[in-house]
Amino acid sequence: MAPKPKNTDMDGLISDFSRFYILTILYEGPAHGYQIISRFKKRVKKEVSPSLVYPFLQQLEEKGLVKHTVKPGGPVGEKEKKVFELTRKGRELCTGLFKRFAELVSIAIEPSLDVCAHCGCKVYEGAYRETIDGKETAFCCMHCARSYKETREHAKKATKN
Ligand SMILES: [Zn+2]
Repeated sequence: MAPKPKNTDMDGLISDFSRFYILTILYEGPAHGYQIISRFKKRVKKEVSPSLVYPFLQQLEEKGLVKHTVKPGGPVGEKEKKVFELTRKGRELCTGLFKRFAELVSIAIEPSLDVCAHCGCKVYEGAYRETIDGKETAFCCMHCARSYKETREHAKKATKN
């Protein structure tokens, strides 16, 4: 039997955006449940249910990806709080996940990007265009366009000599 791919059950666990985003919050540093919920709401502009957050934290803890410490309650009858943080294993998992996610995002947006014909950088918006030898060519800026034309002129002269 072929060995099971290592990440299979993690993929199931992080199959939706909310869980993914909770991981990005934990990745920033230790936080207690309520902090996770309020940061989520502030950034995603969407409520996340405690009934998703706490069981997810527990699952992560069972897998050794998260650990918690108990912060004692304050003098004014504050309840004690569990502060969650990623373990080293958890951080490694997140780094891998984020990298994979970034690759997916760049694959999704890449085809719509222009690439500067001179320096090769990706132009996310407002490419500078010029028609050179009858072909529309994109650049990141007019300076790259000028250098590009100069380089071509040099190349033409060099082949003539
Ligand atoms: Zn350029």
